[in-house]
Amino acid sequence: MKLVIPITIVSYSRSYFMMIIITLRKEEIIMSSMGSQGIWKYAQYLPSVAEENRVTLGEGHTPLIPSVSIGKELGLTNLYFKLESLNPTGSYKDRISALALSLAKQAGKTACIGTTSGNAGASLAAYAARARLPYYVYVQENIIPAKLEQIVVHQAKVCKVKGMGYSPEIGTKVFEMVREKAKRHNWEPAITAFAYAPKAMEAVKTIAWDIQKELGCTPDAVFSPVGGGGLFSGIYYGFRDLLLRHATDKLPRMVACQSAGCSNLVRGYNEGLDRPASGSSTSLISGIQVPSPPDASIAFEALRESNGFGEVIEDTITWKWQEELAAKEGIYAEPAGAIALASVVQAMKAGKLNPHDKIVCIVSGAGYKDVDRQHNMVAPYMDLPLHDLEQLLNE
Ligand SMILES: *Cc1c(COP(=O)(O)O)cnc(C)c1O
Repeated sequence: MKLVIPITIVSYSRSYFMMIIITLRKEEIIMSSMGSQGIWKYAQYLPSVAEENRVTLGEGHTPLIPSVSIGKELGLTNLYFKLESLNPTGSYKDRISALALSLAKQAGKTACIGTTSGNAGASLAAYAARARLPYYVYVQENIIPAKLEQIVVHQAKVCKVKGMGYSPEIGTKVFEMVREKAKRHNWEPAITAFAYAPKAMEAVKTIAWDIQKELGCTPDAVFSPVGGGGLFSGIYYGFRDLLLRHATDKLPRMVACQSAGCSNLVRGYNEGLDRPASGSSTSLISGIQVPSPPDASIAFEALRESNGFGEVIEDTITWKWQEELAAKEGIYAEPAGAIALASVVQAMKAGKLNPHDKIVCIVSGAGYKDVDRQHNMVAPYMDLPLHDLEQLLNE
């Protein structure tokens, strides 16, 4: 597409001129071919992949919507939810999978291999099917059945590992085994952490770019769940890129949200250590049960550089805010996707936020993924009597 810039505007205002160019470039991106759907709308800012190797299911560009009631109740005028739950397989992991499988295709890899607590596997399984590559995946012992089923639907080759998900040592050893096998067979290592797949993880930055575009500015704070730390780190890197490109003049305060049963990263940071604290996971919240977070050092940098902080939330409180999100905002998140809101509430009560701060909660995954939790949540209301229509008509 040829760009035609009206000369009159050039002489009229230099900054207006810049704006026009940027707008036209956007148009150009939108008008170009199928190779620029999903994360590939940002292709020029991502690791280079030829159009024919780009895999996508239309991930990303998820809605950023304002709170309609909980924000008011808390005294926050600018609370937003970033609905990563609306990605093709129901979590933000789809952004990473799109890039991971594209890189695998481009490099001529014959398979991909990884580990998962559930969502990464469900996502990679779908994208591997799309890319027509086999996907070997090690899953944790306590994986949620619905997430496992989602992986199996796409015919991934699944291996369940005893102790994975509870023990930090076993988790780290499985990561290393995957790395070694990937090397030996020349397969794509698909672990959703910068420490293991730094190129594919670049895709997480697109969350920050989406937010900047939709909000029209940089938020004051971004609340994100932290498991392995990749999501949190990727969002920070995305905003840091904008800062380096002079597309913004500040970083949002990055707030790391962890379960009290698995808070090694936040505790380590708060205790002034240069690494996470130690301890096994007792958290019941799928997706953030990662006692030794592989991206801890980047997450620490994000906390330091953005003047961020951590919040640690009891699982029962996270579940309560999962219910509130559904009842008062119409948003159905899985528990990990509700911990950011639980953390906003806690931070607000502790006086860490200003009423007019622009705050974004990352709703990282969809409610339907945790069927057991869903059953618990609704069980008291499910014993419904059956009514005769005749009787109802006479009431
Ligand atoms: C993977 C995941 C997380 C945690 O992301 P990390 O990069 O491991 O910190 C949080 N929420 C959901 C829904 C996830 O799938």
